[in-house]
Amino acid sequence: MSTFNFCAGPAMLPVEVMAQAQQEFVNWQQHGCSIMEMSHRSSAFIRVAEEAEQNLRELLNVPANYKILFMHGGGRGQFSAVPLNLLQAGQHADYIISGAWSKSAVDEATKYGQINAHDIRLKTVDGMRTITAPTNWQLTANATYVHCCPNETVDGVEFTNLPDTHIPIVADLSSTILSRPIDVSRYGVIYAGAQKNIGPSGLTLAIVREDLLPSKNAIIPSVLDYRLAADNDSMFNTPPTFAWYLAGLVFKWLKQQGGVTSIATRNQEKSSFLYDYIDKSDFYSNDVDIAYRSWMNVPFFLADDRLNDMFVDQAENHGLLALKGHRMVGGMRASIYNAMPLEGVQTLVSFMQEFERVHG
Ligand code: PMP
Repeated sequence: MSTFNFCAGPAMLPVEVMAQAQQEFVNWQQHGCSIMEMSHRSSAFIRVAEEAEQNLRELLNVPANYKILFMHGGGRGQFSAVPLNLLQAGQHADYIISGAWSKSAVDEATKYGQINAHDIRLKTVDGMRTITAPTNWQLTANATYVHCCPNETVDGVEFTNLPDTHIPIVADLSSTILSRPIDVSRYGVIYAGAQKNIGPSGLTLAIVREDLLPSKNAIIPSVLDYRLAADNDSMFNTPPTFAWYLAGLVFKWLKQQGGVTSIATRNQEKSSFLYDYIDKSDFYSNDVDIAYRSWMNVPFFLADDRLNDMFVDQAENHGLLALKGHRMVGGMRASIYNAMPLEGVQTLVSFMQEFERVHG
């Protein structure tokens, strides 16, 4: 029986990547040791690091005036890093709240500076969860930056438009990076924890427009300092080397899949397959406005939530792992990142049909 892991993160990685990592785990490329045991300053590791960066630059078409930083600290580390690097005394930033993670970003940033939070969560007349369209956001004219989270992992809400503004846009792309093409030049800073579409947790990417790097004498914890990271090729301190190496394998895999445009077609196909079934069924429901449904994280509910535990248990017995919804939302959540094949979603839908037949 094949198993499919629907965890929101750490999420499943491409099987081919895992197999390669396993095969070269103990003795990496005849060096007599694991890549995990090699100095980050060795020429062999630096080649791996540079190749990963170059492949990511190609995949996302990152312009030359953006630094790609391989950092520690996860998405939450960036919740602190962003205001610490970008916001100076007397300045303020706009923060868009579209769900749980952008709300957490506000809570963290408020410790460091003046934050104007804009809660854009709404209900449609039909009671569906929706948001104010980015073109209608009321931004403060002189904000230093505007922070948003285009894919809310917990809420299953995703938007792809950005506001038309000269204010630098800072985006938490933790759960949507590399799932579809983006125009990096529309952003001031992009950041993402690795544990969904990139690789193992512990690695965090920040893509920073050069003019937004902080000044050399800014007081910022060194491990969160974008300039220090940029000036030291992300090796001011020891980077998460194994995660960086594995991310490099994932980037190569993604190129072999045809890059971000091809994977986007597959992601759209996968998510439509699941949403279409949920919408046709009276037994399952998803309450997100169709215009803002996430391709990556699909929350859904059973008509009778007393069946939730049974659903999760039986799903696991069928090799469908980690479908229990986030504790803030309840119900179920299927996270279907790049590494999830269509077959995994088809298997899930077959299981859901059978469960509905028996319990509906
Ligand atoms: N932002 C988003 C969109 C997330 O999904 C997550 C984690 N699921 C975070 C931030 C926090 O990331 P971390 O646990 O790496 O700090």
